[in-house]
Amino acid sequence: MKNYHTIVIGGGLAGLYAAYRLQEQGIHSSLVLEANHEFGGRVQASADGFDLGATWFWPEFQPELVALMDKFHLNAFPQYAQGDMLIERSLHNVQRIRGFASSPQSWRLEGGIYRLIDALKRSISSDKLHTNQKVIRIERKDGQSVVYTQSGEHFTALNILLALPPRLATQIQFIPSLPETLLQRWQNTPTWMAPHAKYIAIYDRPFWREQKLSGAAFSQVSDLGEIHDISMPNGKAALFGFFAIPAQTRTNIDDETLKAHCRAELQRLFGEQAGNPEQEIIKDWAKDPLIATTMDNNPNINHPFAGQNCVSQGDWQHNLWGVATEWSPNFGGYLAGAIEAVDIALKMLLGEKK
Ligand SMILES: Cc1cc2nc3c(=O)[nH]c(=O)nc-3n(C[C@H](O)[C@H](O)[C@H](O)COP(=O)(O)OP(=O)(O)OC[C@H]3O[C@@H](n4cnc5c(N)ncnc54)[C@H](O)[C@@H]3O)c2cc1C
Repeated sequence: MKNYHTIVIGGGLAGLYAAYRLQEQGIHSSLVLEANHEFGGRVQASADGFDLGATWFWPEFQPELVALMDKFHLNAFPQYAQGDMLIERSLHNVQRIRGFASSPQSWRLEGGIYRLIDALKRSISSDKLHTNQKVIRIERKDGQSVVYTQSGEHFTALNILLALPPRLATQIQFIPSLPETLLQRWQNTPTWMAPHAKYIAIYDRPFWREQKLSGAAFSQVSDLGEIHDISMPNGKAALFGFFAIPAQTRTNIDDETLKAHCRAELQRLFGEQAGNPEQEIIKDWAKDPLIATTMDNNPNINHPFAGQNCVSQGDWQHNLWGVATEWSPNFGGYLAGAIEAVDIALKMLLGEKK
């Protein structure tokens, strides 16, 4: 049986970037095991490239993420923020105020953030990338880790990178078991944005811009609490909103009812045309068992940090590393956090063992 240098568990941005970096460092014996039928994790796109998960990045303070995008020649553009924004204070009271760009400026990728996932996938040799491989157990014996998946397969490696949210990592059975304090810490680390859901309404053109509206709106009374323009340059137009209704409550409302509420809200805010989108999409991340657990039902305000990224003693010492965004000390929860967490772990891992 093949013995890999490193097995990466989870194929979101962190997992794919880790495999890409290992390959770049000349370590060709690695494997990514992703539970889902596709890669991307919290980065997902609609057929037209609209972001169902992560949308923005901030080049001013996330240079490593931008450098990676530049390597793949991906085009970025600033979030549209020209014109007024709307504040819905009650169902009959919508205020129009002067809009503003976020500071620092938020940016988007042409074609959506999934372009970055696609570029990474294409740059990693395909025999390293495995979907539909949910990891359920890892056993450490004789200086190696044996990784067992739900499909009945197993793989052996010297090192394991955990590129999945810490809370989900606690669902994996570790033999011998990990220190209780570490498992508690991971369990108590919220998965960033897991409680949230997005509604996207797609139109043939961004008609709100003709009324000098930026597409940004905030409501204190309706289902969508925060709305933004996510139109594509030279492509389709769209508005998206984050649901203000808690995850638990959303489970009792069917998608068609939610969509009807959202259309009515957009119509109140942006006029008749907004009530007739060409297409509507709802992505509820709290219902995705490969991202959220019931512990993630409540929104978390503070960016998460799972603490130390490796086990410092015992059988798992320096061979099991946390690299998902929640292990990033400076950008926990952000896309940039996935890059930082991988860079930190690989520097330590390769510095020690290469
Ligand atoms: C609605 C939403 C909006 C967001 N907006 C932004 C934004 O604007 N800007 C920003 O910077 N960030 C944003 N984020 C956060 C951003 O998406 C994440 O920081 C980033 O995608 C995390 O990547 P990751 O690889 O660390 O984890 P994930 O993307 O969560 O990847 C983990 C992977 O592990 C897989 N997995 C789970 N369990 C197992 C198992 N047992 N075995 C194998 N595989 C498993 C999952 O299927 C998943 O693919 C947003 C997230 C959401 C949900």
